Amino acid sequence: MKAWIFAVGSELLTPFRVDTNSLAITERLNAIGCDVRFKAVVGDDVEDLRVLFERGIGEVDLIVCTGGLGPTEDDITRDALGRALNLELDLDERILGSIRARFERRGLVMQEINRRQAMVPRGAMVLENSRGTAPGLWLEREGTGILLLPGPPREMQPMLERIIDERLKARAGGRGLFRRVLRITGRPESDVDAVAQPVYAKWTSAPVPIATTILAKMGQIELHLTADAAGEEEAAAALESAVGELVDVLGPSVYSVDGRGLEEVIGDLLRERQLTIAVAESCSGGLLSSRITDVPGSSAYFDRGLVCYSNLAKIEWLGVAEALIAAHGAVSEPVAAAMADGVRERSTTSVGIGITGIAGPGGGTPEKPVGTVAIAVVTPEHRSVRTFLFLGGRDMVKFQATQAAMNMLRLLLADGPPVHRD
Ligand code: ATP
Repeated sequence: MKAWIFAVGSELLTPFRVDTNSLAITERLNAIGCDVRFKAVVGDDVEDLRVLFERGIGEVDLIVCTGGLGPTEDDITRDALGRALNLELDLDERILGSIRARFERRGLVMQEINRRQAMVPRGAMVLENSRGTAPGLWLEREGTGILLLPGPPREMQPMLERIIDERLKARAGGRGLFRRVLRITGRPESDVDAVAQPVYAKWTSAPVPIATTILAKMGQIELHLTADAAGEEEAAAALESAVGELVDVLGPSVYSVDGRGLEEVIGDLLRERQLTIAVAESCSGGLLSSRITDVPGSSAYFDRGLVCYSNLAKIEWLGVAEALIAAHGAVSEPVAAAMADGVRERSTTSVGIGITGIAGPGGGTPEKPVGTVAIAVVTPEHRSVRTFLFLGGRDMVKFQATQAAMNMLRLLLADGPPVHRD
Protein backbone atom coordinates (compact mmCIF):
# COMPACT_ATOMS: atom_id res chain seq x y z
CA MET A 1 0.00 0.00 0.00
CA LYS A 2 1.21 3.47 -0.87
CA ALA A 3 0.15 6.52 1.10
CA TRP A 4 0.40 10.29 0.92
CA ILE A 5 0.04 12.59 3.89
CA PHE A 6 -1.08 16.22 3.85
CA ALA A 7 -0.69 18.41 6.94
CA VAL A 8 -2.95 21.44 6.58
CA GLY A 9 -2.45 24.73 8.40
CA SER A 10 -0.65 27.98 7.59
CA GLU A 11 0.88 27.93 11.10
CA LEU A 12 2.80 24.80 10.06
CA LEU A 13 4.58 26.89 7.42
CA THR A 14 5.95 29.24 10.08
CA PRO A 15 9.00 28.54 12.24
CA PHE A 16 6.77 28.35 15.33
CA ARG A 17 4.79 25.16 14.86
CA VAL A 18 6.12 21.83 13.68
CA ASP A 19 4.10 19.20 11.84
CA THR A 20 4.42 16.20 14.14
CA ASN A 21 1.20 14.53 13.01
CA SER A 22 2.76 13.21 9.82
CA LEU A 23 5.49 11.50 11.83
CA ALA A 24 3.00 9.80 14.14
CA ILE A 25 0.85 8.77 11.15
CA THR A 26 3.89 7.46 9.25
CA GLU A 27 4.91 5.33 12.20
CA ARG A 28 1.47 3.74 12.46
CA LEU A 29 1.12 3.24 8.71
CA ASN A 30 4.59 1.70 8.43
CA ALA A 31 3.66 -0.73 11.17
CA ILE A 32 0.94 -2.20 8.93
CA GLY A 33 3.24 -2.30 5.92
CA CYS A 34 1.96 0.88 4.32
CA ASP A 35 4.65 2.91 2.64
CA VAL A 36 4.49 6.72 2.89
CA ARG A 37 5.71 7.99 -0.50
CA PHE A 38 4.98 11.70 -0.27
CA LYS A 39 3.96 14.28 2.27
CA ALA A 40 3.18 17.95 2.07
CA VAL A 41 2.57 20.81 4.46
CA VAL A 42 -0.16 22.99 2.95
CA GLY A 43 -1.27 26.48 3.98
CA ASP A 44 -4.93 27.38 4.46
CA ASP A 45 -5.58 27.73 0.74
CA VAL A 46 -8.51 25.78 -0.62
CA GLU A 47 -7.19 25.71 -4.20
CA ASP A 48 -3.70 24.50 -3.21
CA LEU A 49 -5.24 21.65 -1.29
CA ARG A 50 -7.75 20.85 -4.04
CA VAL A 51 -4.88 20.44 -6.52
CA LEU A 52 -3.11 18.03 -4.17
CA PHE A 53 -6.25 15.95 -3.64
CA GLU A 54 -6.83 15.77 -7.40
CA ARG A 55 -3.25 14.70 -7.96
CA GLY A 56 -3.40 11.91 -5.37
CA ILE A 57 -6.90 10.46 -5.82
CA GLY A 58 -6.72 7.48 -8.17
CA GLU A 59 -2.93 7.51 -7.89
CA VAL A 60 -2.24 6.18 -4.38
CA ASP A 61 -4.00 3.72 -2.08
CA LEU A 62 -4.41 6.11 0.80
CA ILE A 63 -4.41 9.85 1.50
CA VAL A 64 -4.34 10.97 5.12
CA CYS A 65 -4.98 14.66 5.66
CA THR A 66 -4.81 16.32 9.08
CA GLY A 67 -6.01 19.77 10.14
CA GLY A 68 -8.30 22.35 8.64
CA LEU A 69 -11.50 20.72 9.93
CA GLY A 70 -12.32 23.47 12.43
CA PRO A 71 -15.25 25.88 12.28
CA THR A 72 -13.57 29.01 10.89
CA GLU A 73 -13.20 30.36 7.34
CA ASP A 74 -9.59 29.25 7.17
CA ASP A 75 -10.54 25.63 7.84
CA ILE A 76 -10.63 24.57 4.23
CA THR A 77 -10.13 20.81 4.12
CA ARG A 78 -13.77 19.79 3.64
CA ASP A 79 -14.28 22.38 0.89
CA ALA A 80 -11.07 21.41 -0.91
CA LEU A 81 -12.07 17.76 -1.01
CA GLY A 82 -15.61 18.68 -2.05
CA ARG A 83 -14.21 20.70 -4.98
CA ALA A 84 -11.72 17.98 -5.99
CA LEU A 85 -14.46 15.36 -6.18
CA ASN A 86 -17.32 17.62 -7.26
CA LEU A 87 -19.18 16.62 -4.13
CA GLU A 88 -21.92 18.48 -2.42
CA LEU A 89 -21.52 19.08 1.31
CA ASP A 90 -24.57 18.09 3.35
CA LEU A 91 -25.40 19.15 6.85
CA ASP A 92 -25.25 16.10 9.13
CA GLU A 93 -27.84 16.63 11.86
CA ARG A 94 -26.31 13.96 14.10
CA ILE A 95 -22.90 15.68 14.13
CA LEU A 96 -24.58 19.03 14.67
CA GLY A 97 -26.46 17.59 17.65
CA SER A 98 -23.32 16.15 19.23
CA ILE A 99 -21.36 19.39 18.76
CA ARG A 100 -24.24 21.34 20.32
CA ALA A 101 -24.42 18.86 23.22
CA ARG A 102 -20.66 19.16 23.76
CA PHE A 103 -21.01 22.93 24.18
CA GLU A 104 -24.04 22.56 26.44
CA ARG A 105 -22.20 20.15 28.74
CA ARG A 106 -19.73 22.95 29.40
CA GLY A 107 -22.54 25.49 29.92
CA LEU A 108 -21.91 27.21 26.56
CA VAL A 109 -24.11 27.98 23.57
CA MET A 110 -22.92 26.64 20.23
CA GLN A 111 -22.07 29.42 17.77
CA GLU A 112 -23.55 29.37 14.25
CA ILE A 113 -20.04 29.13 12.89
CA ASN A 114 -19.72 25.58 14.31
CA ARG A 115 -22.34 24.37 11.82
CA ARG A 116 -19.47 24.21 9.31
CA GLN A 117 -18.04 21.30 11.24
CA ALA A 118 -21.22 19.32 10.61
CA MET A 119 -20.91 19.66 6.82
CA VAL A 120 -20.04 16.28 5.32
CA PRO A 121 -19.04 15.53 1.72
CA ARG A 122 -21.83 13.34 0.31
CA GLY A 123 -21.09 9.63 0.81
CA ALA A 124 -18.43 10.08 3.46
CA MET A 125 -18.34 8.06 6.68
CA VAL A 126 -18.21 10.16 9.85
CA LEU A 127 -15.60 9.37 12.52
CA GLU A 128 -16.71 10.55 15.90
CA ASN A 129 -14.33 12.81 17.82
CA SER A 130 -14.39 11.82 21.48
CA ARG A 131 -11.86 14.50 22.39
CA GLY A 132 -13.01 17.57 20.46
CA THR A 133 -15.64 19.02 18.15
CA ALA A 134 -14.25 18.36 14.65
CA PRO A 135 -15.35 14.92 13.41
CA GLY A 136 -13.08 12.98 11.07
CA LEU A 137 -14.21 11.71 7.68
CA TRP A 138 -13.47 8.66 5.57
CA LEU A 139 -14.40 8.06 1.96
CA GLU A 140 -13.16 6.03 -0.98
CA ARG A 141 -12.85 7.19 -4.57
CA GLU A 142 -11.12 5.64 -7.56
CA GLY A 143 -9.33 3.08 -5.39
CA THR A 144 -8.04 5.69 -2.98
CA GLY A 145 -9.03 5.74 0.69
CA ILE A 146 -9.26 9.34 1.89
CA LEU A 147 -9.00 10.01 5.60
CA LEU A 148 -9.57 13.51 6.98
CA LEU A 149 -8.47 13.95 10.59
CA PRO A 150 -8.53 16.97 12.92
CA GLY A 151 -5.24 18.73 13.61
CA PRO A 152 -4.80 18.36 17.38
CA PRO A 153 -2.68 15.21 17.87
CA ARG A 154 -4.74 13.81 20.74
CA GLU A 155 -7.94 14.18 18.73
CA MET A 156 -6.68 12.59 15.53
CA GLN A 157 -5.00 9.54 17.10
CA PRO A 158 -8.11 7.52 18.12
CA MET A 159 -9.66 8.07 14.69
CA LEU A 160 -6.51 6.91 12.94
CA GLU A 161 -6.46 3.77 15.10
CA ARG A 162 -10.09 3.08 14.24
CA ILE A 163 -9.51 3.30 10.48
CA ILE A 164 -6.36 1.19 10.75
CA ASP A 165 -8.30 -1.49 12.62
CA GLU A 166 -11.47 -1.38 10.57
CA ARG A 167 -10.18 -0.75 7.05
CA LEU A 168 -6.45 -0.67 6.54
CA LYS A 169 -5.14 -3.73 8.41
CA ALA A 170 -7.23 -6.05 6.29
CA ARG A 171 -5.98 -4.44 3.08
CA ALA A 172 -2.39 -4.85 4.22
CA GLY A 173 -3.12 -8.58 4.82
CA GLY A 174 -1.24 -8.74 8.14
CA ARG A 175 2.02 -7.78 6.43
CA GLY A 176 3.94 -5.10 8.14
CA LEU A 177 7.16 -3.29 8.78
CA PHE A 178 8.62 -4.16 12.16
CA ARG A 179 11.44 -2.19 13.79
CA ARG A 180 14.31 -2.70 16.19
CA VAL A 181 16.77 -0.01 17.24
CA LEU A 182 20.37 -0.62 18.32
CA ARG A 183 22.00 2.19 20.24
CA ILE A 184 25.74 2.62 20.24
CA THR A 185 27.99 5.10 21.96
CA GLY A 186 31.70 5.76 22.20
CA ARG A 187 32.41 5.08 18.49
CA PRO A 188 32.28 7.45 15.52
CA GLU A 189 29.61 6.92 12.84
CA SER A 190 32.13 6.08 10.09
CA ASP A 191 33.66 3.39 12.27
CA VAL A 192 30.27 1.89 13.16
CA ASP A 193 29.21 1.87 9.53
CA ALA A 194 32.49 0.34 8.32
CA VAL A 195 31.97 -2.57 10.71
CA ALA A 196 28.20 -2.92 10.42
CA GLN A 197 27.60 -2.29 6.71
CA PRO A 198 29.06 -5.61 5.43
CA VAL A 199 26.76 -7.37 7.90
CA TYR A 200 23.52 -5.54 7.18
CA ALA A 201 24.04 -5.13 3.40
CA LYS A 202 23.15 -8.79 2.80
CA TRP A 203 19.84 -8.59 4.65
CA THR A 204 18.08 -6.60 1.94
CA SER A 205 17.79 -9.75 -0.19
CA ALA A 206 17.09 -12.17 2.68
CA PRO A 207 13.79 -14.15 2.75
CA VAL A 208 12.57 -11.63 5.34
CA PRO A 209 14.22 -8.47 4.01
CA ILE A 210 15.63 -6.07 6.57
CA ALA A 211 16.48 -2.48 5.65
CA THR A 212 18.98 -0.73 7.90
CA THR A 213 19.48 2.98 8.38
CA ILE A 214 22.20 4.60 10.42
CA LEU A 215 21.35 7.73 12.38
CA ALA A 216 24.01 9.82 14.10
CA LYS A 217 22.62 11.72 17.07
CA MET A 218 24.43 13.76 19.68
CA GLY A 219 26.79 11.39 21.51
CA GLN A 220 25.35 8.24 19.99
CA ILE A 221 24.66 6.28 16.84
CA GLU A 222 21.44 4.44 16.16
CA LEU A 223 20.97 1.56 13.76
CA HIS A 224 17.33 1.23 12.76
CA LEU A 225 16.44 -2.22 11.46
CA THR A 226 13.15 -2.52 9.58
CA ALA A 227 11.92 -5.98 8.63
CA ASP A 228 9.28 -6.39 5.93
CA ALA A 229 7.50 -9.48 7.20
CA ALA A 230 4.25 -11.43 6.84
CA GLY A 231 3.59 -11.13 10.56
CA GLU A 232 4.97 -10.23 13.96
CA GLU A 233 6.43 -13.66 14.74
CA GLU A 234 8.31 -13.93 11.47
CA ALA A 235 9.67 -10.40 11.95
CA ALA A 236 10.73 -11.02 15.55
CA ALA A 237 12.77 -14.10 14.60
CA ALA A 238 14.53 -12.33 11.71
CA LEU A 239 15.23 -9.21 13.76
CA GLU A 240 16.51 -11.16 16.75
CA SER A 241 19.10 -12.92 14.64
CA ALA A 242 20.05 -9.68 12.85
CA VAL A 243 20.52 -7.87 16.17
CA GLY A 244 22.70 -10.75 17.39
CA GLU A 245 24.95 -10.51 14.32
CA LEU A 246 25.43 -6.77 14.80
CA VAL A 247 26.16 -7.09 18.51
CA ASP A 248 28.79 -9.72 17.67
CA VAL A 249 30.70 -7.35 15.39
CA LEU A 250 30.13 -4.12 17.32
CA GLY A 251 30.86 -5.53 20.77
CA PRO A 252 30.28 -3.64 24.01
CA SER A 253 29.80 -0.28 22.27
CA VAL A 254 26.17 -1.41 21.76
CA TYR A 255 24.42 -0.30 24.91
CA SER A 256 20.81 -1.02 24.05
CA VAL A 257 18.90 -3.33 21.69
CA ASP A 258 15.46 -2.86 23.20
CA GLY A 259 14.76 0.87 22.97
CA ARG A 260 16.15 1.76 26.41
CA GLY A 261 18.12 5.00 26.75
CA LEU A 262 21.55 5.08 28.38
CA GLU A 263 20.04 6.52 31.58
CA GLU A 264 17.74 3.51 31.85
CA VAL A 265 20.52 1.04 31.05
CA ILE A 266 22.76 2.32 33.85
CA GLY A 267 19.77 2.64 36.15
CA ASP A 268 18.93 -1.04 35.62
CA LEU A 269 22.57 -2.05 36.18
CA LEU A 270 22.73 -0.07 39.43
CA ARG A 271 19.40 -1.40 40.66
CA GLU A 272 20.18 -5.03 39.81
CA ARG A 273 23.40 -4.84 41.80
CA GLN A 274 21.88 -2.77 44.57
CA LEU A 275 24.44 -0.02 44.08
CA THR A 276 24.05 3.68 44.83
CA ILE A 277 25.57 6.65 43.06
CA ALA A 278 26.54 10.26 43.73
CA VAL A 279 27.90 12.67 41.12
CA ALA A 280 29.96 15.87 41.20
CA GLU A 281 29.64 17.99 38.08
CA SER A 282 31.49 21.03 36.94
CA CYS A 283 31.13 21.78 33.21
CA SER A 284 27.97 19.66 32.77
CA GLY A 285 26.19 21.91 35.28
CA GLY A 286 23.83 19.28 36.68
CA LEU A 287 22.87 17.71 33.36
CA LEU A 288 24.14 14.29 34.42
CA SER A 289 22.02 14.40 37.60
CA SER A 290 19.08 15.56 35.55
CA ARG A 291 19.43 12.73 33.02
CA ILE A 292 19.90 10.06 35.67
CA THR A 293 16.80 11.29 37.50
CA ASP A 294 14.74 11.36 34.29
CA VAL A 295 14.22 7.65 34.93
CA PRO A 296 11.21 6.86 37.15
CA GLY A 297 12.36 5.04 40.28
CA SER A 298 15.90 6.48 40.17
CA SER A 299 15.62 7.33 43.86
CA ALA A 300 16.44 3.65 44.47
CA TYR A 301 20.06 4.33 43.44
CA PHE A 302 20.67 8.06 42.97
CA ASP A 303 21.81 9.69 46.21
CA ARG A 304 22.92 13.20 45.25
CA GLY A 305 24.39 15.42 42.58
CA LEU A 306 26.53 18.43 43.36
CA VAL A 307 27.32 21.18 40.87
CA CYS A 308 30.78 22.40 41.87
CA TYR A 309 31.61 25.01 39.28
CA SER A 310 34.26 27.12 41.00
CA ASN A 311 37.56 25.88 42.39
CA LEU A 312 36.34 26.95 45.82
CA ALA A 313 33.27 24.72 45.50
CA LYS A 314 35.47 21.76 44.55
CA ILE A 315 37.70 22.44 47.56
CA GLU A 316 34.94 23.18 50.08
CA TRP A 317 32.31 20.68 49.05
CA LEU A 318 34.39 17.81 47.72
CA GLY A 319 37.66 18.15 49.58
CA VAL A 320 39.70 18.49 46.39
CA ALA A 321 43.20 19.64 47.45
CA GLU A 322 44.02 23.19 46.39
CA ALA A 323 47.54 22.01 45.51
CA LEU A 324 46.11 19.37 43.14
CA ILE A 325 44.21 22.06 41.22
CA ALA A 326 47.31 24.28 41.19
CA ALA A 327 49.51 21.45 39.93
CA HIS A 328 47.24 19.96 37.22
CA GLY A 329 44.59 22.61 36.54
CA ALA A 330 40.87 22.32 37.36
CA VAL A 331 40.31 20.42 34.10
CA SER A 332 42.49 17.37 34.63
CA GLU A 333 42.18 13.67 35.36
CA PRO A 334 43.54 13.99 38.94
CA VAL A 335 40.92 16.66 39.75
CA ALA A 336 38.09 14.64 38.12
CA ALA A 337 39.17 11.62 40.19
CA ALA A 338 39.37 13.70 43.39
CA MET A 339 35.87 15.06 42.69
CA ALA A 340 34.52 11.53 42.21
CA ASP A 341 36.26 10.29 45.36
CA GLY A 342 35.11 13.35 47.33
CA VAL A 343 31.43 13.02 46.45
CA ARG A 344 31.45 9.24 46.91
CA GLU A 345 33.13 9.38 50.32
CA ARG A 346 30.89 12.17 51.59
CA SER A 347 27.72 10.41 50.47
CA THR A 348 28.97 6.87 51.25
CA THR A 349 27.60 5.60 47.94
CA SER A 350 28.96 2.65 45.97
CA VAL A 351 29.83 4.77 42.93
CA GLY A 352 31.10 8.34 42.51
CA ILE A 353 31.40 10.30 39.26
CA GLY A 354 33.39 13.49 38.70
CA ILE A 355 33.17 15.62 35.53
CA THR A 356 35.34 18.67 34.86
CA GLY A 357 35.88 20.30 31.48
CA ILE A 358 35.76 23.29 29.18
CA ALA A 359 32.32 23.64 27.57
CA GLY A 360 33.29 26.80 25.64
CA PRO A 361 33.08 28.88 23.62
CA GLY A 362 35.80 30.67 25.67
CA GLY A 363 38.32 29.28 28.12
CA GLY A 364 40.28 26.94 25.83
CA THR A 365 44.08 26.82 25.63
CA PRO A 366 46.40 25.09 23.13
CA GLU A 367 46.96 22.20 25.61
CA LYS A 368 43.35 22.07 26.74
CA PRO A 369 41.13 23.25 23.89
CA VAL A 370 37.38 23.86 24.22
CA GLY A 371 35.68 20.48 24.49
CA THR A 372 38.34 18.95 26.74
CA VAL A 373 36.54 17.04 29.49
CA ALA A 374 38.05 14.83 32.19
CA ILE A 375 35.72 12.21 33.68
CA ALA A 376 36.24 9.82 36.56
CA VAL A 377 34.02 6.95 37.65
CA VAL A 378 35.10 5.38 40.91
CA THR A 379 34.04 2.57 43.21
CA PRO A 380 36.01 1.33 46.23
CA GLU A 381 37.58 -1.36 44.01
CA HIS A 382 37.72 0.18 40.55
CA ARG A 383 38.42 3.47 38.93
CA SER A 384 38.03 4.54 35.34
CA VAL A 385 39.47 7.96 34.46
CA ARG A 386 39.60 9.40 30.95
CA THR A 387 40.03 12.65 29.06
CA PHE A 388 37.85 13.35 26.03
CA LEU A 389 37.87 16.03 23.37
CA PHE A 390 34.28 16.69 22.30
CA LEU A 391 33.36 18.74 19.24
CA GLY A 392 30.46 21.15 18.90
CA GLY A 393 28.88 24.01 20.82
CA ARG A 394 28.42 24.36 24.56
CA ASP A 395 25.26 22.27 24.72
CA MET A 396 26.85 19.49 22.69
CA VAL A 397 29.95 19.37 24.88
CA LYS A 398 27.79 19.21 28.01
CA PHE A 399 25.58 16.47 26.60
CA GLN A 400 28.47 14.37 25.30
CA ALA A 401 30.20 14.65 28.69
CA THR A 402 27.15 13.15 30.42
CA GLN A 403 26.88 10.47 27.73
CA ALA A 404 30.55 9.51 28.14
CA ALA A 405 30.27 9.45 31.95
CA MET A 406 27.27 7.12 31.86
CA ASN A 407 28.98 4.93 29.29
CA MET A 408 32.10 4.65 31.43
CA LEU A 409 29.90 3.61 34.32
CA ARG A 410 28.12 1.08 32.12
CA LEU A 411 31.37 -0.47 30.92
CA LEU A 412 32.74 -0.56 34.43
CA LEU A 413 29.62 -2.25 35.80
CA ALA A 414 29.37 -4.63 32.87
CA ASP A 415 32.95 -5.62 33.61
CA GLY A 416 33.86 -4.62 30.10
CA PRO A 417 37.10 -2.97 29.14
CA PRO A 418 38.71 -0.63 29.92
CA VAL A 419 38.76 -0.76 33.73
CA HIS A 420 41.77 0.87 35.35
CA ARG A 421 42.64 -0.46 38.76
CA ASP A 422 44.65 1.54 41.25
P1 ATP B 1 -9.89 22.27 15.52
O1 ATP B 1 -11.35 22.08 15.45
O2 ATP B 1 -9.33 21.85 16.86
O3 ATP B 1 -9.44 23.63 15.07
P2 ATP B 1 -8.66 21.42 13.06
O4 ATP B 1 -8.74 20.15 12.31
O5 ATP B 1 -9.19 22.64 12.40
O6 ATP B 1 -9.28 21.18 14.49
P3 ATP B 1 -6.28 22.94 13.11
O7 ATP B 1 -7.09 24.18 13.44
O8 ATP B 1 -5.72 22.84 11.77
O9 ATP B 1 -7.16 21.66 13.40
O10 ATP B 1 -5.19 22.74 14.21
C1 ATP B 1 -5.50 22.81 15.58
C2 ATP B 1 -4.23 22.62 16.39
O11 ATP B 1 -3.77 21.28 16.20
C3 ATP B 1 -3.04 23.47 15.97
O12 ATP B 1 -2.98 24.70 16.59
C4 ATP B 1 -1.88 22.61 16.41
O13 ATP B 1 -1.65 22.79 17.77
C5 ATP B 1 -2.37 21.23 16.18
N1 ATP B 1 -1.92 20.73 14.88
C6 ATP B 1 -2.50 20.91 13.68
N2 ATP B 1 -1.85 20.26 12.71
C7 ATP B 1 -0.78 19.70 13.29
C8 ATP B 1 0.28 18.88 12.81
N3 ATP B 1 0.38 18.53 11.53
N4 ATP B 1 1.21 18.46 13.70
C9 ATP B 1 1.09 18.79 15.00
N5 ATP B 1 0.10 19.52 15.52
C10 ATP B 1 -0.84 19.98 14.68
